[in-house]
Amino acid sequence: MNYLLPLLSVLIGYIFALVIQPKDKVKLKLLLAFSGSFLLSLTVIHLLPEIYESNNSRIGLFIMVGILFQIILEYFSQGAEHGHVHGHSKMEHIPWLLFISLCIHALAEGFPVGHHHDLAMGIAIHHLPIAIILTTFFINANLNKKAIFLFMITFAIMTPLGTILSDYLPLLNVYYNEITAIVIGILFHISSTIIFESSEGHKFNIAKISMIVLGFALAYFI
Ligand SMILES: [Zn+2]
Ligand SMILES: [Zn+2]
Repeated sequence: MNYLLPLLSVLIGYIFALVIQPKDKVKLKLLLAFSGSFLLSLTVIHLLPEIYESNNSRIGLFIMVGILFQIILEYFSQGAEHGHVHGHSKMEHIPWLLFISLCIHALAEGFPVGHHHDLAMGIAIHHLPIAIILTTFFINANLNKKAIFLFMITFAIMTPLGTILSDYLPLLNVYYNEITAIVIGILFHISSTIIFESSEGHKFNIAKISMIVLGFALAYFI
């Protein structure tokens, strides 16, 4: 399940976007808001308390490093990790910078999953709308089908690969708490950005706030 959920969610998002070619941006925004809230709640309710129990006085530092790291990644990805894409009208090849930074992001997210099974679901829910948005964007940019497929399949593999690496590389286990703290920083930044960007001009939106409460409730009871 740990490996499967994050893998399947990207593939499902990819296939969904291929078959249905969704035009409804409002529903996607709601799905994004839900995923952001779920991810943030998971981080705060489940990951944070545990990592602070490790009595490592530098944990806060590593969380900040994670936030900074994600901010830097987004210079290259233009925010693809939180469902933000910028228009090229035509795309001849895979946008490599976006691709590499998204892969690094997804790989890092896989590291703590082996110890935190609920995180597998959190990342799955977070990557589902991203996969839909990216695939739709690439189709509209006329990127060729093979390139889209390669892009999405690699993106899908990255999180499970991170989990496998942390399971089998003893070195990564020695620094488990530090790595998890960095990922917490990444998740913090990503999820709050998702929630922030899914609100249009800070107008009160009952549908959106319901999705946020729902995401929070689900993470709480999980
Ligand atoms: Zn953005
Ligand atoms: Zn992610």
